[in-house]
Amino acid sequence: MDSTQKSSVSPRHQAFQAAIDQPIRKIERIKDQFGKEVPISDYFGCLTFGLAQMREKLPKDSFNVLLKTLDQGKKLPKETAEAIASAVKEWSVTKGVTHFCHWFQPMTGLTAEKHDAFISIQHAHHSELRVIERFTGSQLIQGEPDASSFPSGGMRSTFEARGYTAWDPTSPLFIIEEENGKTLCIPTVFFGYHGQALDNKTPLLRSIETLSNEAVEFLKLVGDVDAKKVQTTLGAEQEYFLVDKNFVALRPDLIMTGRTLLGSSSARGQQLEDHYFGAIPTRVKAFMQEAEFELYKLGIPIKTRHNEVAPSQFELAPIFEDMNIASDHNLLTMEVLKRVALKHGLVCLLHEKPFAGVNGSGKHNNWSMSNDKGENLLEPGHTPHQNIRFLACLAVVLKAVHENAAALRAAIASPGNDHRLGANEAPPAIISAFLGSLLENILNSIESGKALKATDEQIIDLGVSQIPNISKDYTDRNRTSPFAFTGNKFEFRAVGSSQNVAVPMSFLNAAVAMSFRDCSAQLKDLLKKKKRDEAVMELVRSVVKETKSIRFSGNGYSDEWKAEAKKRGLPILNTTPDALEVLKDKKATQFLIDAKVLSREEIDSRYHIAVERYVKTLDIEHTSLLEITSTYIIPALEKHMQLLSGANDAMSSSVLKKFHKDRVSEFENVFADVLKNYASFSASVEKSRKSHDELKRMWSIVEDLQPAAFKLRDALDASELLVSDEFWPLPKYREMLLAHSLV
Ligand code: ADP
Ligand code: MG
Repeated sequence: MDSTQKSSVSPRHQAFQAAIDQPIRKIERIKDQFGKEVPISDYFGCLTFGLAQMREKLPKDSFNVLLKTLDQGKKLPKETAEAIASAVKEWSVTKGVTHFCHWFQPMTGLTAEKHDAFISIQHAHHSELRVIERFTGSQLIQGEPDASSFPSGGMRSTFEARGYTAWDPTSPLFIIEEENGKTLCIPTVFFGYHGQALDNKTPLLRSIETLSNEAVEFLKLVGDVDAKKVQTTLGAEQEYFLVDKNFVALRPDLIMTGRTLLGSSSARGQQLEDHYFGAIPTRVKAFMQEAEFELYKLGIPIKTRHNEVAPSQFELAPIFEDMNIASDHNLLTMEVLKRVALKHGLVCLLHEKPFAGVNGSGKHNNWSMSNDKGENLLEPGHTPHQNIRFLACLAVVLKAVHENAAALRAAIASPGNDHRLGANEAPPAIISAFLGSLLENILNSIESGKALKATDEQIIDLGVSQIPNISKDYTDRNRTSPFAFTGNKFEFRAVGSSQNVAVPMSFLNAAVAMSFRDCSAQLKDLLKKKKRDEAVMELVRSVVKETKSIRFSGNGYSDEWKAEAKKRGLPILNTTPDALEVLKDKKATQFLIDAKVLSREEIDSRYHIAVERYVKTLDIEHTSLLEITSTYIIPALEKHMQLLSGANDAMSSSVLKKFHKDRVSEFENVFADVLKNYASFSASVEKSRKSHDELKRMWSIVEDLQPAAFKLRDALDASELLVSDEFWPLPKYREMLLAHSLV
C-alpha cells in the first residue's frame, strides 16, 4: 500500500485492521530444572506473604504472639512488629522488590497506594553516606499518606491532611511485578484522626466481626453450644468486556467515561445467543491465561472462565474465600485484568453498561457463613439438627433482607449500575429473594403450621431431613433474581461489575448480624416455654410469615413484578439518587449503627460522597457527549451533506434526482434533529451547572439532563445509520463487539 492509498483509509478502518491482525502474545511460564512446566500448585501464592509464610519465616514466639493478637484483636507488640518487618524485608528484597506501599481502599471506590523505597541512609565515617535496605515495624504497621485529596464527605477538613493507614494482618501482603520493578503492597485500613473510617475496608472488617459475634450467640441457642466463631465467605464472579485498544483510542467516551455514550446497535448483537459459553476466541484466551497466571502467583484461586452473553463479554470466577481476603482479591483481580489486557492490546471494561442494547456486567457475590468446624450454615446437612440449623439461618437471612431491602439497594447504587438494574437483562432495582421450589414448599408447609409441634419424626415427615437434595437442584435457577439462593449460599447478583464489594458486603453482613440479634432475643423467649427444636421451628415459622413479601420466584424482569412489588410494599428505587435517599433515613440505616459498622457521621459522609460522585460522573458524561457531538459527529454530518449536494450536481437524470431528493430530505431531518437536541441539551447542561446546590443538581440531572442526553443519543444513533461509512469517525458497535469473533 503506498502512502497516498494509505491516507484514504480512515483511522477507524485502520483500527479494525489492526485489531484483527494483532498477534497473540506468548508468556514465559515457570519451569523446573529440567525445563518442564510446573503445575499451578507449585507457584500458587509465590508473590504473597501471609500467615502461612509467616509461620515458616518468623521466629516461633513472634508468630505465636501474632496469632494471639489476631485472635484477641489486640495491638501488636513493638518487638513482634520488628520481627515481622525484618522477615518481610528479607523475603521481598531477595525477590527483587525495591519499594513498599500501604495499599488501601478510599471512598473513591478504587484502591490507592503510595510507594516508598526500602532504602535508608546509614552514616558511616565522616561524611560518607551508605544506602542500605531497611524496613521497620512501624513502617509495616502504620502510614500517614498525605490524604487531603481523598474524599472524606466532610469528616476531615482538607487543611488537616491527617489520614492514617494501618496494616490489616488478616490479608496477605503481596508483590506487584511489573516490567521495570516490583513493589510490595501492604493491605491496610484507612482512617481519620478520631478513628473515623475513610475507606471501605474498615466497615467490612467491623461487619465481619459483628456478624460472627451475633451468629455465635444464635448458634448456641440453636444447640451448637461450642460455637466460637462464624466466618463469612465470598466468591465474587466478575463479568467484563474486552475491546481492542485501537478502538478505544478513537473513542473519547470510552477513555473518559468507560462506556459508549453513543453508538447504533450492531445488526448482529447477542440475539443468536451464540457467544454465551461459546469457544473462547484465541486472543482472548491468551489474555485469560496470562491474567490467571498472574492471579495464581498472587494467591487468587481463579477457577472458572467463560464467554458471557453479550459479544466481547467474559467472566471469571474464583473459589470462595474468607470474606475480607476475597474482597481484597476481587479488587486485585480487577487491577490485574486491566493491566494484563493492555499487554494483549485490549482494554478491559469493568463498567456496568459499556454498550447499550446488549447485556451489562455485574459481579455476582456468592455469600455464605460457616462455623469453626468449617460447616456451611446455609448448607442443608445430614441430620435433622443440621437441617433445623439450616432453616433457622435461612430465616435469619430472609429477615435481614426483608428489613433492609432499601439499604441493600442503596449499597449497590452507582451511575453505572443505574443503566443495568432494571434493564432487560439484569436483576431489577427491587430487592427480592429467590429460594427455589423445594425450599418454597418446605417454608410453606412450615408456615401452614404442620411443623409447629415438631418432633424429630415430624420434621423428617416434612422432608426437612431430605433438604440436602436442594444443593443438587440445578433445575430451577432464577437468573432474574437480585438475591438468589443457589443450593448452599446466596448470590447477591445486583452488585455492579466495577464496585468494591466491601460496600454491599458490609451492609449485608450488618443486616444479617442484626437479624441474628433479633432472632436470638425471640428464641430466648420461646425457649422459656418450649423444647429447643420446637422453639427453633416456631421462630422459623414466625419469620417465614413475617418476611413473605420479600420472596419472589417469578420473572424479575417483568412489568407484572413491578406492579406486584408495589402492592407488596417493597421499595422500588430506580435510580441512584432515589436509592441514596435511604442513607439519609435514620430508621433505615440504624442497623449499620447498631452493628457498629458505620457511625451516623460515617453514614452521612458516605451519602455526601455518593451525591458528589454521582453529579461529577454524570457531568463528565454530559460534557463528553456535547464535545463528541460538536467536534466529531456534526463535522461528519456536514461532510455527508456536501457529498449529497455534490451528487445532486452530478445528476442529470430526473428519476435519480427525484429519489435523491428523498434521501436528502431524510438526512436533513435527522441532521436537524441532531442540531436541535444538541442545542437544547447544551443549554440545559449550562443551566444546571449554574446551581451550586449539589442536591438540586443531582435531581436536575435525573429529571432533566438524563432524558435530554438520551434524546440526543437517539438522534446521533439515527444519523450513524445514514452517514457514509467513511465519514463516521467513531468505531462502530459491530467493530468493537465482533472483532474478536473473526479471529
Ligand atoms: P453455582 O453454579 O451454584 O453458581 P459454583 O460452585 O459454580 O456454583 O459457585 C459459584 C461461586 O460461588 C464460586 O465463586 C464459588 O466459589 C462460590 N461459592 C461456593 N460455595 C460458597 C460458599 N459457601 N460461600 C461463598 N461462596 C461460595
Ligand atoms: Mg453462579
